[in-house]
Amino acid sequence: MDIINILPDSVANQIAAGEVVDRPAGAVKELLENAMDAGATQIDLVLKDAGRTLIQVIDNGCGMSDSDARVCFERHATSKIHGADDLFAIRTMGFRGEALASIAAIAQVELKTRQSDASWGTQVVIEGAHIVSQEPTACAAGTSMTVKNLFYNVPARRNFLKRDAVELSHIEETFRRITLIHPDIGFSFSHNGKTLYELAAGSMLQRICGLFGQQYKERMYHVEEETNIVKIKGFASRPEFSRKTRGEQYLFVNGRFIKHPMLSAAVEKAYADLLPERNFPSYFIGLQVDPSRIDVNIHPTKTEVKFVDDHALFAILRSAVKKALGQFSLATELSFDTPEEFNIGPAPKGYMPPEPKISYNPDYNPFASTKGSRVKGNEKGVRGNERTNDLIDTTDTIVPSLPLTPSHAPSLPQSTCMQVQGRYVVTPLSSGLAVIDQQRAHERVLYDRLTRTVGQAVKQSQTLLFPVQCHFSAADGELFGELLPDMKEYGFEIAAMGGCTFVVSATPAGLKEGDMQELFDRMLMEYKGATLQKHASRSQSLCASLARQMAIKPGRQLTQEEMQQLVSDLFACPLAEMSPSGKKTITIVKPEELLK
Ligand code: ADP
Ligand code: MG
Repeated sequence: MDIINILPDSVANQIAAGEVVDRPAGAVKELLENAMDAGATQIDLVLKDAGRTLIQVIDNGCGMSDSDARVCFERHATSKIHGADDLFAIRTMGFRGEALASIAAIAQVELKTRQSDASWGTQVVIEGAHIVSQEPTACAAGTSMTVKNLFYNVPARRNFLKRDAVELSHIEETFRRITLIHPDIGFSFSHNGKTLYELAAGSMLQRICGLFGQQYKERMYHVEEETNIVKIKGFASRPEFSRKTRGEQYLFVNGRFIKHPMLSAAVEKAYADLLPERNFPSYFIGLQVDPSRIDVNIHPTKTEVKFVDDHALFAILRSAVKKALGQFSLATELSFDTPEEFNIGPAPKGYMPPEPKISYNPDYNPFASTKGSRVKGNEKGVRGNERTNDLIDTTDTIVPSLPLTPSHAPSLPQSTCMQVQGRYVVTPLSSGLAVIDQQRAHERVLYDRLTRTVGQAVKQSQTLLFPVQCHFSAADGELFGELLPDMKEYGFEIAAMGGCTFVVSATPAGLKEGDMQELFDRMLMEYKGATLQKHASRSQSLCASLARQMAIKPGRQLTQEEMQQLVSDLFACPLAEMSPSGKKTITIVKPEELLK
């Protein structure tokens, strides 16, 4: 007995539909991509009930002929490739001819379309893959595709859909991934009669602002690079606008959103230690590569891609972002963690290393005598070969010959600190040249100051001219309330105003006025994380967190006085060479190395 059946098309399409369209966002993606492939310059997306009952995409693209309007719903109906060779030169978003067949199999679809040179358009109604009607109609040039009651005949799928808010957020993400990299096309997006986005055609930066807010205009650096294997164009956030989550990280290849852990790592590596711990940059970066250098065997609805030249791309992308951040190669040499550096090889074509940015003191004289505070202990650093010997010895052995605060060493010349790249303070010692990471050094100084204040009667506070209000969520507000006595110890004056509102009227002396809300938000977040670690005491982890938030960040230009204060404060700390989080604060370039 024969037992093999050929599945009817309608069933096959329903099965295939599950792959292409697993939720409303999947249908939205396919319809938007079709509109772009049709050369539209304006595309409008209209939704009802997060796409469950209605998804409509209207475009002003090329439209379809009467017969194409029918054929487009058939499986493997595509105008985009004709033979296998075309597979290696795909420049359109779709090419498998499956999307419309899939959508028509699981929804009630109404298509209205007109080619610009035709006087009449055509309207096709199709339901569960069966054409219900086709008739001429008067309509605008272009295409309007209306998808009603998605999954009406697939209850299992329908029941798997999440709450409207969840489905809508998937659609919004789909919309961002498509619109970000096509700023030359105007888009609108409305849901249940309310306009969520109205994006005019423009530049990529305008598009970013249209989607994420106007404040992004000041937050981004322009990334641009062109070599013979890739063209890179996009934006990466300035280090000071990094975020606590990896949320806004968008990479595109040939106009398509991709996920590529190695390329994302390249971008993050470019920031090296410009970012505070557990902070992530935002970026929107498009790559253009020869389509034949991408593996096309990868499923088109998936976001993974393979590149033939992935190692070269890594290096070029990283250097492009570095260049945008205004870094130069010295930064890598001065790197405080010795990261496994990727071998860049020859500089990509057309790459011009940017001019180093160094703030320097014109009076600085490296040969000026700095005798006067010579000490025990530092010869060790000169002779030693191991890295650890570069460190200043702890406790009583540290007194390198460097300028101290006026009160400590009034006779020393004042002008012996130099800031490099807004991140490092460089100062000569008898044992070589000390390169100090300003952020980590400051973190150490603040930490020691905060922990010393604990339990001491004298609080060092400064009263704020304008008290600052902070608000928290219910849970955070309760936690913050519990921490108030600790905060008082550190020199904060904070009053609970009821609910989850607090008013800050004084801060520890020396704290630069900044965003108080953010300071506390981050502190609470870190504190919640730290309480899970057994080793750190409550006050240790609070102080470490506060020190981290309050420390001067890379990019802050320091005055000569500030640098000297920082250096002398640092060397006054018993554990000067390590930040509270255990990172090296100082590295010493030995005289032998200077000779080279
Ligand atoms: P694919 O995009 O992979 O070719 P689809 O099923 O998405 O497959 O679409 C089938 C065909 O229908 C497309 O190749 C295109 O010729 C036509 N088509 C679909 N949407 C539009 C549109 N908005 N404007 C013009 N033609 C369209
Ligand atoms: Mg398509």
